[in-house]
Amino acid sequence: MMVKTRFAPSPTGYLHIGGARTALFSHLYALHNKGTTVLRIEDTDLERSTPEAVAAIIESLEWLGLHYDEGPYYQTKRFDRYKEVIAELLESGHAYYCYCTQEELAEMRAKAEAKKEKPRYDGTWRPEPGKTLPAIPEGIQPVVRFKQPQVGATTFVDLVHGNLSVQNSELDDLIIARGDGSPTYNFCVVVDDVDMEITHVIRGDDHINNTYRQVNIFKAMNKPVPKFAHLAMILGDDGQKLSKRHGAVGVMEYYHQGYLPEAVLNYLVRLGWSHGDQEIFSFEEMVQYFDLNNVNKSASAFNTSKLRWLNQHYMIEKNPTELAMLLKPFLEKLGVQTETSPEFDNYLTQVVEAHVKRCETLVELAEMVLYLFTDTIEMDEAAKAKQLIPVSKPVLEKLVEILGNVAEWTPANLDAAVKEVTQVLEVGMGKVGMPLRTAIVGRTNSPNLDETLFLVGKERTLDRLGKAIAMIEG
Ligand code: GLU
Repeated sequence: MMVKTRFAPSPTGYLHIGGARTALFSHLYALHNKGTTVLRIEDTDLERSTPEAVAAIIESLEWLGLHYDEGPYYQTKRFDRYKEVIAELLESGHAYYCYCTQEELAEMRAKAEAKKEKPRYDGTWRPEPGKTLPAIPEGIQPVVRFKQPQVGATTFVDLVHGNLSVQNSELDDLIIARGDGSPTYNFCVVVDDVDMEITHVIRGDDHINNTYRQVNIFKAMNKPVPKFAHLAMILGDDGQKLSKRHGAVGVMEYYHQGYLPEAVLNYLVRLGWSHGDQEIFSFEEMVQYFDLNNVNKSASAFNTSKLRWLNQHYMIEKNPTELAMLLKPFLEKLGVQTETSPEFDNYLTQVVEAHVKRCETLVELAEMVLYLFTDTIEMDEAAKAKQLIPVSKPVLEKLVEILGNVAEWTPANLDAAVKEVTQVLEVGMGKVGMPLRTAIVGRTNSPNLDETLFLVGKERTLDRLGKAIAMIEG
């Protein structure tokens, strides 16, 4: 059997990080089994679905690098097909018209509530052998109901949870077409899974209750029931359901916060799945090892510091020129006008190489290197108060003199020049390095001095030293 999975988001907003994990697991399962993947947009809820949400979902999946073999299919384009199947089910006696009015249904609900029972349809229009149905009232657009089995239990094997079962007496006759003929959610999902020949349905465990109903529709259509795997929820760091309150929940927010897709995928794969104690997985390794047997039954909690740690790992691992290209939009956001020349790209690559180990996101990297792309650096007040003091003045003046004489601005020459200053003034490296960093970076942490000086460049270095000297009082 050829494995085929699908990801079936409802386009009512951005792609939630939990949805991305479902998409990833469906993908990995298919790829691990040399199967194929389908993207299906479940847009039958016309009031809540928007084209913007569809675009946002597709953009997120592309950013993550999850590409589909088939689709996107849109449910709204398949209404004729749903109607065809409704007609078939009516014909085969698995569905029937129900003419109950809103008032009658409200009355049924009220009765059930009075008896403290679950509100359910009382079967008025359900045909049974020997039963006489009421006379068809005029002026009512009937709904179509699915005839659920009433005795026994509906059972399915869940690849994460094991056997799951519900008494059929708990399931009432689901509406599969509304009065206006439009098909309903649980029904469309089944028709799609049948037509798209889905073998494994991998989705959130909030759908378990739908699955019982869906299993019976597969059977009524006389089609094989796919295998199911329901994934547990993702919780916030505090154990509550992950929501806006916890920070980013939309996938593209992670892009805007400076995460790499490799890090997000690696992070997501470990949310509810494990392979021994391995933490770092390339996409190929995920595909190689992924198995639904090792998926957790219980919810997993989001851990931002782990995501940051992974992001740093992938930033360091990435080719620095590629990382430099990814950094450009983040610099632009800070007001830097980036260029597309080989010289600029080469310079930015060196900047990335010098700083990448010191930060965890592209946003942090952009902020950290901003001093290299501005005429006026921002001064850290504490560093200024501590380093730009009268004793530093002769040091900075000597630096101006000796650095001013460096003919070829290379890291090796700059290293020698700074050492020369310590020797001439007979002071330790700290007495020179700290005020120098403060003067040219605006703070006391930066890469090695020779690299920093090299990247700042001669003209700017001398200019900043001059300004720093002027800031010192007395
Ligand atoms: N459209 C559903 C959702 O976004 C998923 C349905 C399914 O996977 O069967 O929650």
